[in-house]
Amino acid sequence: MATGKINVSVENIFPLIKKFLYSDHEIFLRELISNATDATLKLKHLTTIGEASVEYGNPMIEVRIDKEGKKLHILDQGIGMTADEVKKYINEVAFSGAEEFLDKYKDSAKDSGIIGHFGLGFYSAFMVASKVEIITKSFKDEPAVHWVCDGSPEFSMEEAERNEHGTEIILHIAEDSTEFLEEGRIAELLSKYNKFMPIPIKFGTRTETLPKPEGAKEEEEAPTKEVDNIINNPEPAWTKKPVDLEEGDYKEFYRELYPMQFEEPLFHIHLNVDYPFNLTGILYFPKLTNDLNIQKDRIQLYQNQVFVTDNVEGIVPEFLTMLRGVIDSPDIPLNVSRSYLQADGAVKKISSYITRKVADKLTSLFKDNREDFEKKWNDIKIVIEYGMLSEDKFYDKADKFALYPTVDGQYFTLEELKEKIQGKQTDKDDKLVVLYASDKEAQHSYIKAAKAKGYEVLLLDSPIVPHLVQKLETSNEKLSFARVDADHVDNLIKKEDAQISKLSDEEKEKLKSAMEEVVTDKGYTIQLESMDSDAAPFVITEPEFMRRMKEMQQTGGGGMFGMGNMPEMYNLVVNTNHPLVSDILNTKTAKKRERLISQSLDLARLSKGLLKGEALTDFINRSYDMIK
Ligand code: ADP
Repeated sequence: MATGKINVSVENIFPLIKKFLYSDHEIFLRELISNATDATLKLKHLTTIGEASVEYGNPMIEVRIDKEGKKLHILDQGIGMTADEVKKYINEVAFSGAEEFLDKYKDSAKDSGIIGHFGLGFYSAFMVASKVEIITKSFKDEPAVHWVCDGSPEFSMEEAERNEHGTEIILHIAEDSTEFLEEGRIAELLSKYNKFMPIPIKFGTRTETLPKPEGAKEEEEAPTKEVDNIINNPEPAWTKKPVDLEEGDYKEFYRELYPMQFEEPLFHIHLNVDYPFNLTGILYFPKLTNDLNIQKDRIQLYQNQVFVTDNVEGIVPEFLTMLRGVIDSPDIPLNVSRSYLQADGAVKKISSYITRKVADKLTSLFKDNREDFEKKWNDIKIVIEYGMLSEDKFYDKADKFALYPTVDGQYFTLEELKEKIQGKQTDKDDKLVVLYASDKEAQHSYIKAAKAKGYEVLLLDSPIVPHLVQKLETSNEKLSFARVDADHVDNLIKKEDAQISKLSDEEKEKLKSAMEEVVTDKGYTIQLESMDSDAAPFVITEPEFMRRMKEMQQTGGGGMFGMGNMPEMYNLVVNTNHPLVSDILNTKTAKKRERLISQSLDLARLSKGLLKGEALTDFINRSYDMIK
């Protein structure tokens, strides 16, 4: 029997490890199963190239709880270690690695920026165990080894009885970590970290019902059998080639990833590169709602089929964090802070590769089946619009597939839309005017008025639309967006047959002062316009620029501080050519004039959704009085 001292200068290394990684104790199991997987895959490699004379067979890894003995066992049938290898890899390499780690992360480990997965390897076992044993037998013809370490830097090592190659790690679970003796807790960890690892992992057994023997009686119970409970799928869809997969396979994998998600994904993108970095994965577009915040943290990051995190911030461009699926790349550094990660060259390349792949997929979906793409638009637009805002490269590509639906459910690309309104919807500065609504119900009368003139009205209802139209205007000099209630359409769009006012200047003066006497609310600016006689007599409008800036501030960004606190400013547009306006002007008594103006103003406010509370109650009572 040999005893010795682990070669580290830090005397109490284990308490330190424990302390540093306090929040992340559970990763020990992932690390040990990763080692077991590596050991098995190494043996597979050696047998394929003929360097190991043992049979590879169908090896598996087993996790076993010994509740009474307060032990957790992790067993593999891999390459194993000789006594020399234990000395080298466990005593020297592993622990010097620990020291290095502690040196390196003394200060930064506590920063919240650290991802929290350090690839700690074997000695992470000491985060949960007071004593660790290794029983290992190399595939080479050498005796098995039994190594024991109780968490102090001292260990013991002796020959052991074991004939089969492979390794068993025995953790004597510490008093403060007994949760890891609970079956439920271990099952949870296995499912979180090891669900797609490449070697089958057994955890307990389960009862399988067998077919009834022939001629069995009706009431006879079907025979059962105890079988290994394998917790993982060693060949998840993303590790396969796209040509070997069918649509149904992708959907099935989605259900495997998100068992609680009942809605099917809209489509998927299979990622697969090996140069200049290694990355595989499958991304799914789920049906998205307009709420940007609730749908993040759904993409899972793996390294060689080992789950690392579901926070892919910094690796996947932000607008794509709303997608779901899996990314597997060994090339993403994990033991660094988020800000460092974003500056990392490989990670930048990965991020722009993913953006490009998503844009390409959208382009081909649009080209191959436009009708279907249009049907899905409403469920995916938030990602696309967000992407257009946040990534210039994506913006350029989105020109081909970004859609602009009309209130009547027609879909145009920006090019098509421009063509459609060319020569028909221009303003005084000869810019094309794109009219849009954000709410079909609330802006109904405005939409109707615009459509009556033959104009196209888009329906743009995502919360980021104010930012998007701002961006579209900046990138298209000759384009101007106006919400249907931004001004009277006749003011927004230049008309050849402009109406001449039926009122003289003198009459206009008179009308204006009459109006000002009644409309005392400073929030309204009275504006006399000569429009078609069938246009509404009073219309309340909200200037585009002010409204847009306010909305941009509400939805974040824009940097327009204080705009949110600005009072609401409206224009009260009075159509001087409307018969009712003539009536107002020509009414004999001041009282009747006042009544006409108040009632018309309230109707205009009602139409804009501004009539509320006491004003609404008064209006209703007044209206009843009128008809009784
Ligand atoms: P890493 O896995 O990053 O190399 P570890 O501390 O986890 O670091 O392990 C150190 C070494 O110990 C491994 O590289 C491997 O050679 C050996 N080892 C650990 N676990 C096993 C195992 N289950 N079977 C065979 N060798 C192992």
